[in-house]
Amino acid sequence: MRPSVASPVSLDAVIGLGSNLGDRRATLQSAARAVAALGTLLGASPTYESRAVGPPQPDYLNAAVRLRAVIEPPALLELLLGIERDHGRERRERWGPRTLDLDLLWIDALAVRTARLVVPHPCLLERPFALRPLLDVAPDARDPASGERYADRLATLGEAGLRRHSPPLVGA
Ligand code: ADP
Ligand code: MG
Repeated sequence: MRPSVASPVSLDAVIGLGSNLGDRRATLQSAARAVAALGTLLGASPTYESRAVGPPQPDYLNAAVRLRAVIEPPALLELLLGIERDHGRERRERWGPRTLDLDLLWIDALAVRTARLVVPHPCLLERPFALRPLLDVAPDARDPASGERYADRLATLGEAGLRRHSPPLVGA
């Protein structure tokens, strides 16, 4: 008898991309291509510029992509952290400037809570610069636990601090 093998899971995930060092748009485009290579790209947002949170530092450029991939969430996180490293990310001070930040923002109908990975991303509900591009690629997304629509959450927070740049990051 063959040993049983766990069946692979197909995820519908939104990954947030951010950069505030170097050629931000080129970095986000390159990272988006690397993320797309992990599965099927379902969408890419425009980019948004906003003031950084934390110590004084350059403004951020943020975007999001939606990915379908047959992979377990922890393995997806490790691949994203590898893409960060490939783009020259060094981990220094928390909240400090970075060439690339990749966050696993949301996975459809899934909540994950381990020491290394929390999905939805723990800061998502407080961050218009993450919610706005997420909604561009997944307009009907909801919090998997509470059912709250992210569109309602963003309407509450407002998006006054975001400057939108078109066109989308990849494709068109
Ligand atoms: P942040 O993105 O919150 O500003 P960092 O990028 O410095 O902070 O934090 C990265 C660490 O956060 C990773 O090593 C990872 O283990 C952990 N982490 C937990 N949940 C997530 C998630 N959903 N997406 C990305 N990283 C996460
Ligand atoms: Mg991060």
